[in-house]
Amino acid sequence: MAGLLVLVPAAPAAAAQDVRTVVARVPSGSGADAVSLDTTLYVTLEPCAMCASAMVHARVQRLVYGAADPRVGAAGSVFNIVQHASLNHQLEVTAGVLAEQCATLLREFFAARR
Ligand SMILES: [Zn+2]
Repeated sequence: MAGLLVLVPAAPAAAAQDVRTVVARVPSGSGADAVSLDTTLYVTLEPCAMCASAMVHARVQRLVYGAADPRVGAAGSVFNIVQHASLNHQLEVTAGVLAEQCATLLREFFAARR
């Protein structure tokens, strides 16, 4: 599952569904689900608390995101669920990759939907 590319859609519930779908696609017996998905999740926007929690429960190894979300971001902006010491799994996080391009992509996406 290494090198997986996932673009998280706008709606939080849909994003969480995507994370659950990724988890469901790990073949049983592959060993990947025993400890960690050995997966890097690439997303345009910093995950919310719901998506971040799904990533922790799925034991996704690494999160790479573009734009920070200062309103509800849960990978360092408002909360840091993905690296919370009290939880049984913490993700490696790389933040701000192509941040401006990701923010522009999201702004254009929402502008087109209005
Ligand atoms: Zn979310």
